[in-house]
Amino acid sequence: MNTDRLEDPQRQRLREHLEAILIRSEKATSWHDEAARLRGLVNHEGYVPVRTRLAGVDLDFLAGAREDLLRFSELGLRLLDLHQPRDAGGITSDAAHPILRCRSCMWRWPCPTFRAISDSFSASPETVLPESA
Ligand SMILES: [Zn+2]
Repeated sequence: MNTDRLEDPQRQRLREHLEAILIRSEKATSWHDEAARLRGLVNHEGYVPVRTRLAGVDLDFLAGAREDLLRFSELGLRLLDLHQPRDAGGITSDAAHPILRCRSCMWRWPCPTFRAISDSFSASPETVLPESA
C-alpha cells in the first residue's frame, strides 16, 4: 500500500483555500512603501485622505485581507500554543541545557512546526512593526 497517495479531502480543501489566499496576496500590490510615505501625511484627526488607482487584483486582495490576516494570526497563535518545548526528562550530561521536546508532536525542540512558523515570520522585513508614536 502506498501511503503517499492517501489524501484527506478536508486537508485538500484547506490546502486549496490557502493556495488561493497565497496567489491572491502575491498578485496584489504591496502597500509597504506607500504606507510609509502616507504615514507622514496623517492629519490632526488621525487620518490621511487617499486617492489611488486600484487594480481588480488589488480589490480581490483587499476584500478579504483583514479576515485572512486575522485567521492567519489566530492560526499562528494556536500553533504556538500547541507546539511548546518541555523538558524531555531522562539523564543528560549537560544539566544547563536539558534535552527539550515539543509537548505536542514530541519532536526534539525546536520541532518542525515551530521552525516552519519561525522561518515564515522571522525573515520577512514586512513583519517589522512601525514604531508607535
Ligand atoms: Zn511540535
